[in-house]
Amino acid sequence: MSLYGDYDPQNIFAQIIRGDMPCYKLYEDDDVLVFLDLFPQAYGHTLVIPKRAAARNILEIDADNLARLALAVQKVARVLADELQPDGVQVAQFNGAPAGQTVYHIHVHVIPRFSGENLQIHASGKADPAELEKLQARLVPRFQDL
Ligand code: 5GP
Repeated sequence: MSLYGDYDPQNIFAQIIRGDMPCYKLYEDDDVLVFLDLFPQAYGHTLVIPKRAAARNILEIDADNLARLALAVQKVARVLADELQPDGVQVAQFNGAPAGQTVYHIHVHVIPRFSGENLQIHASGKADPAELEKLQARLVPRFQDL
């Protein structure tokens, strides 16, 4: 069952944390890593993950890492809101395949939402790398003081 099971250290986000796989990183400290989603549901779709917690989901993560994750999510939402000026900010977190989870290292989606756009729940495709690079260059300076 996808809600229960062993943590797989080879999951894609664990590989990104270890530096074995690349990502469009916006911010990193001892506790969290913040990077752009490769298959964005909207412009600025960002993921926030804990670095020290080998937890698949919210049922497993310890309170300390969860608290640090939640604080980082709020900061990320504020930075994205300030820089991208969306009309809304969606914060989402899925646990188990039936709930929409596809990567089994706990993560939080922070998705700027813009009036007039469909509330896209699934990405329409992989983002253009050049666009992600441009967005990363725009956002990284805003994350300096996170
Ligand atoms: P979930 O559906 O598990 O909550 O979300 C997983 C997210 O990770 C999806 O939004 C998906 O687009 C994103 N994703 C999957 N593989 C990669 C990857 O290799 N790099 C990045 N940056 N995002 C990924």
